[in-house]
Amino acid sequence: MKINEYLEKVKSKEISVVKTVEKILQEAKNSPNHFTAISRSYALEQAEKIEKNPEGRLAGLPISVKDGVCVKNIESSAGSEILKNYRPPFSATVINKLEKEGAIIIGKTSQDEFGFGGFSVNTKKIPKNPHDLARSCGGSSGGAAGFTSFATQPHIALGESTGGSIANPASFCGVAGLTPTYGLVSRYGLIDYANSLDKIGTIAKTVSDAFLGLYHIAGYDEKDSTSLPQKMLQEKKVKKIAVIKESLNVDKEIKDIILSKLKNYDTISLPSIKKYSLPAYYLIALSEASTNLAKYCGLRYGQTLPLQGGYNEFFTEVRSKYFSKEAKRRIILGTFARMSGFRDAYYLKALKARTLIIKEYKKAFKKYDILVSPTMPVTAPKFSEIEKLSPLENYMMDILTVGPNLAGLPHLSLNAGFKNKLPVGIMLTANHLEEEKLRALGEEVEND
Ligand code: GLN
Repeated sequence: MKINEYLEKVKSKEISVVKTVEKILQEAKNSPNHFTAISRSYALEQAEKIEKNPEGRLAGLPISVKDGVCVKNIESSAGSEILKNYRPPFSATVINKLEKEGAIIIGKTSQDEFGFGGFSVNTKKIPKNPHDLARSCGGSSGGAAGFTSFATQPHIALGESTGGSIANPASFCGVAGLTPTYGLVSRYGLIDYANSLDKIGTIAKTVSDAFLGLYHIAGYDEKDSTSLPQKMLQEKKVKKIAVIKESLNVDKEIKDIILSKLKNYDTISLPSIKKYSLPAYYLIALSEASTNLAKYCGLRYGQTLPLQGGYNEFFTEVRSKYFSKEAKRRIILGTFARMSGFRDAYYLKALKARTLIIKEYKKAFKKYDILVSPTMPVTAPKFSEIEKLSPLENYMMDILTVGPNLAGLPHLSLNAGFKNKLPVGIMLTANHLEEEKLRALGEEVEND
């Protein structure tokens, strides 16, 4: 059943919200590690209220929330051991907005610790891909995309992307993942990875459902200093599209699937994006991440230990015990890039490269409405294959998604077909605030 159909039936009381929520809670429980917390009694309580009085434009719609987005009184640990048992005393703006429209929060989905990763393996509860349980859901919003593919009941997932964490798992799980323009959706209540890059977005079975979610979470928020006062533009006409030449340097079958989805297109070369986006992204993201993680020192949030020794000893003990190996690696790399003596050569250089990348995109958008590429260079890898990747090989998997994220551009990944029964995602990128163009072309590709 389409979400809109379900919402109408809830309004006319032709369908039971309680039964729908009971079914999806059961699916959440049975899902292969997609959830870190299930808010069963809270969801059922809401469902009963809404069934009696279906008020709001999303009345009765189940929503799953990536663990890093705070929900009041529900454990929100961003996939990290250091935040275990943290129950925020408040909800993120996106949650308040959805609940005001009658949506029902069913639980928190598993992710890489703080968003650090592309396969959701950097965490305790590793979500498995419904298309093949030996494979990754992608990441870092792995649980969100995995459950979207797994669930049979109406549902929208909230995800978060810093460098591709919505598009990547959407591609690996064969669902639609929508990352909005930076600043369009409030980050208030999102546990930070890298503030200048983080964006909350939606994952759903169809493009229109992903947009339905976005319409309800977008909008200015005075609690977020980078929130945009502007709204999404309404222009839907997609006149010219271009495939990014460098992105076709992938497996031939993936390339053919992507191109078979397009009718009229040009090819465009974006050399600076290919050359600089990955190093610039990892320098900026990790510099910001390393400062953000400084606040987890055992005093204010999450895990702590008995107070012993001096401040430095205590602080070191807590952080050594509860941060994962990947978080530690990122703290070291990020701190190094910001250190006096290295700052000019790394962090500030990366900021310059970011400006160059934005300019290259802006030039392309003077001529084209949408840029197209595969979302990922591969299909969902096996866990046994991921174990063999070096940290650098891990980071290189993000080669196609970091560009639009660095530039804050909206992008949509949707299923384009299958290679050996595994989903292949196509990624559409538009200029700032031109999400509606993504919707227009996305729906065309989807209905093809
Ligand atoms: N894989 C990328 C990283 O590890 C992107 C993660 C994200 O978008 N949260 O940084």
